[in-house]
Amino acid sequence: MAHLVEIGSGIYQVHTGVGREGEVSSVFLVEGERAALVETGPAVLAPYVLEAVDGWRGGRLGIGYIVPTHLHMDHGGGVGALAQELPQATVVAHYRSAHHVVDPSRLITATVQVWGENYAEQWGSILPVPRERVLPVNDGDRLDLGSGGLEVVFTPGHAPHHLSLWEPGSRAVFCGEALGSYLRAVQVVVPTVAVPFFDLEQALSSMDRVLALSPELLIFSQGGTCHQVAEAIRQAQEVTLAAAEQVQEAKRLGLEEAEVVARLKSFHEEELGRLYGPAGDGLHLEHELWPDYYEQMAAGLLAYFRRLEAG
Ligand SMILES: [Zn+2]
Repeated sequence: MAHLVEIGSGIYQVHTGVGREGEVSSVFLVEGERAALVETGPAVLAPYVLEAVDGWRGGRLGIGYIVPTHLHMDHGGGVGALAQELPQATVVAHYRSAHHVVDPSRLITATVQVWGENYAEQWGSILPVPRERVLPVNDGDRLDLGSGGLEVVFTPGHAPHHLSLWEPGSRAVFCGEALGSYLRAVQVVVPTVAVPFFDLEQALSSMDRVLALSPELLIFSQGGTCHQVAEAIRQAQEVTLAAAEQVQEAKRLGLEEAEVVARLKSFHEEELGRLYGPAGDGLHLEHELWPDYYEQMAAGLLAYFRRLEAG
């Protein structure tokens, strides 16, 4: 049965009881008179999220905001399905992506490109949200939860319209995928590079931006909570940069994409061992996260370097 687990003061993680942690985004609930759901996960998880909300004392009418960190299907694919069942909730999105929440046709096209024509069978349908229920936000905007609030911090890189949320009460940052994914069991941060708009420079400076908030708690959308903030962010920058350098070098050598993937995978597995010692040794991220992990990373970084070259 889906339920909430407290991970910070008034901050809960939805345990759906289905799927593997890290494969899709977790969903979080921040309490307040107008509580917020941070992330939705894919639409297929909506019934489980609702089951957890039903078991919470505020119930469905207590949810005032739904805030995906970005609109990739595995993070924000459930906005439409949840908005239908949470009548008081406003859907919050970066001001430059809010129109995709109202009319998700371009998101659906992009989702099909990454996940295939039959994505909805596995992950549920991406549904539109009525315009009057969508709140476009800018960097620095504050969501008033009644008691407490969340501040919007733009953190582009993984996706151009990626945002993080600063929760001052717990000095926590909901960092989405701005830093990558966290493998909590082994305390390892790994990059999550998405196609087609990953931007290395922006990603690294967004990580600096998260660090500059001096958080005491990082809440990763894949992997949960981490208190070793500075160390985690340093690792995130190091592994992301190292992966990018491998792809840049492979590109310079003119390798085929499949060779880039193979090179990235063997390099990265060694790098994880070097960085994390026994914890990183033998980590196979395509098993820990998703099957085409390295394909996506190679494609995302190649696309980034091609854009740079094209100016
Ligand atoms: Zn993403």
